[in-house]
Amino acid sequence: MSLPEHHLRSVNLPEGWTPDSWRARPALQQPQYPDASALAGVQDELRALPPLVTSWEILSLKRQVAEAQEGRRFLLQGGDCAERFVECTPDVISNRLKVLLQMSLVLVHGLRLPVVRVGRFAGQYAKPRSADVETRDGATLPCYRGDIVNGPEFTTLARTPDPRLMVKAHARSAMTMNFVRSLIDGGFADLHHPEYWDLGWVQHSPLADEYHRIVAGIGDAVRFMETISGNEVHNLNRVDFYTSHEALLLPYEEAQTRQVPRQWGWFNLSTHFPWIGMRTAALDGAHVEYFRGIRNPIALKVGPSTTPEQLLRLVDALNPDDEPGRLTLIHRMGAGNIAARLPALLDAVKRDGRRALWVCDPMHGNTETSANGYKTRRFGNIRAELETAFELHAAAGTRLGGVHLELTGEDVTECTGGARDLTDADLERAYRSTVDPRLNYEQALELAMLVVRKRGI
Ligand code: PEP
Ligand code: MN
Repeated sequence: MSLPEHHLRSVNLPEGWTPDSWRARPALQQPQYPDASALAGVQDELRALPPLVTSWEILSLKRQVAEAQEGRRFLLQGGDCAERFVECTPDVISNRLKVLLQMSLVLVHGLRLPVVRVGRFAGQYAKPRSADVETRDGATLPCYRGDIVNGPEFTTLARTPDPRLMVKAHARSAMTMNFVRSLIDGGFADLHHPEYWDLGWVQHSPLADEYHRIVAGIGDAVRFMETISGNEVHNLNRVDFYTSHEALLLPYEEAQTRQVPRQWGWFNLSTHFPWIGMRTAALDGAHVEYFRGIRNPIALKVGPSTTPEQLLRLVDALNPDDEPGRLTLIHRMGAGNIAARLPALLDAVKRDGRRALWVCDPMHGNTETSANGYKTRRFGNIRAELETAFELHAAAGTRLGGVHLELTGEDVTECTGGARDLTDADLERAYRSTVDPRLNYEQALELAMLVVRKRGI
């Protein structure tokens, strides 16, 4: 009897790798836990809990990423910069899902391609920070590293890293996954009912007409296909959703790294699609060491200071066998840098004949402080970076195969510009992020429409 393809070892087991081999390397952005035995106890507890995702799902996502690498799918990855424990609520979760579903509908319709939907959720609880400590009014405390590590309040108690928060993050991730899965299995994502995804507060949006035209067009197409095939078109009743987060907090990720029956190698079962952040992407660092050994599809953030040589060595370390679907490269250069920095990287990977899915994150290179003191991003810069990315890929003979965005379904004013032309003064009205500023619904939908214009024609 021959084994199904995914049971066969198609690539080599990484030499010298174990789930904790990262411990021999410099590990950046890790909290200093005051009690090592409490940390070890939490890791044991996490190891015994059920996983959040399965190897089957992980491998099916890997196949979808492989198709996206060949131009047969487009990747949409989005969600909060960081999830908060207090925002693990039905409204926040379903509103975020609605925005992502609406965006994917716009993309499917405009690009005539299936979309790989990946949420930045169900585990996006750890944040890299530019400084280890924060000083206010003469007092210095550890920085806030996300709800999985400590609390944002400026008190010694809140800021002291607590390993028990990992157990809480795991539980919140499971609740989020459970709700998303139930919504989707129950019919929330059914293409026959896009009205389920309407958000109450956006009825008067300047983009509503265009969106509703797209929805009507899809409704017609669905009915047409059902008429000619004589029954319900199976795949239109539900969509797949995958999860992703920055696998930053290595003791947590290590405890979720497992072998599963009838599969070779190791999987990170806390998420389908972990990524390495820009600040922890050193070739000889702990994060690259950890990532090289897991079988998940993985992504690497690539910033303006990465050189072509560094990138090629990272590609080698993370995907030595050039396995399809394995590696996604998310560039985040900034509107002002992208034209100068990206082409050499595209050329290098192309000349080396390496397989990668190129994705644009137009958020993280465009963060600035507004005149009235808010961490913000201007929609015009986000749009400019994304437009330029499409143009640079076209010129290089490579393909931009996805977008990575920070967004929310809540009515926030954190990024300026967009269809309602939000100003610095508007930021005061509904600024809710404790970390990076997110696109609101309209700004997110506008970007999806932009992708269709730039790539779809
Ligand atoms: C992020 O995605 O929230 C982030 C910190 O990104 P980067 O590592 O690209 O700066
Ligand atoms: Mn961010």
